[in-house]
Amino acid sequence: MNKQDHDRLKEIREEMLHLVDEAKRIISNDDKSVYERARVYWVGNILHALDDGNYITKYDYTMQNTIDDLEPSDDDLCPMCKEELADDEEGAYCPECGYEVDEEIDSNEDEDE
Ligand SMILES: [Zn+2]
Repeated sequence: MNKQDHDRLKEIREEMLHLVDEAKRIISNDDKSVYERARVYWVGNILHALDDGNYITKYDYTMQNTIDDLEPSDDDLCPMCKEELADDEEGAYCPECGYEVDEEIDSNEDEDE
């Protein structure tokens, strides 16, 4: 996965945490027993799946685990300046410093889709 997609994935998780928090705040102003049920069930489930840092065990597989699993590898970065490499017809190159990659980059992304 490239760094741009990976950063977006992290943003999406943050946004979802934020939205659930907002929903929680809104319903907390009304019927306390409804709020309690929501907090224990769907609010808790969503936060758990996103990994809000509470009660995560090694048997869970959270969105944070997915983000960690798809961490961009160094293969996608320029060896000179560590910027993300781009592709054109002639192969991979660095838009930052102009470094050109000689051989094909061996990347797991080829197996995707
Ligand atoms: Zn570079």
